Amino acid sequence: MSCLFCRIVVGEIPAAKVYEDDELLAFKDIHPKAPLHLLIIPKEHIESMAALEDRHAPLMGRMMVLAQRLAAENGSPEGFRTVVNTGRVGRQEVYHLHMHLLGGPEPLGSSASF
Ligand code: AMP
Ligand code: ZN
Repeated sequence: MSCLFCRIVVGEIPAAKVYEDDELLAFKDIHPKAPLHLLIIPKEHIESMAALEDRHAPLMGRMMVLAQRLAAENGSPEGFRTVVNTGRVGRQEVYHLHMHLLGGPEPLGSSASF
């Protein structure tokens, strides 16, 4: 299996997991750009937002709902930023769909922008 995030899903590569259910996994970004920087991923290998199908709509909805819950539970109750980079133009580096969740106790600095 060559996909980095698929290997994290199955436990072949360690990650600082903060949430897991049947469909979703959230873990700390290895190079955080904000006091709180999590990645929320589907366990299913979907390359990017460009590969989404109609059947993925509920899954994407769950990712959004989970983002606000994890922000509140992890020290960012007063707001956060979500980013999904897509494809070459979107500067996507890891081709397994992921949502960046950036937050912290204070307003984010420019290093938290993408
Ligand atoms: P993107 O540019 O949206 O594809 O971002 C990929 C993100 O994955 C970057 O913010 C990396 O720091 C992060 N990343 C890469 N490898 C790992 C890893 N092993 N564990 C956690 N985060 C990672
Ligand atoms: Zn994958």
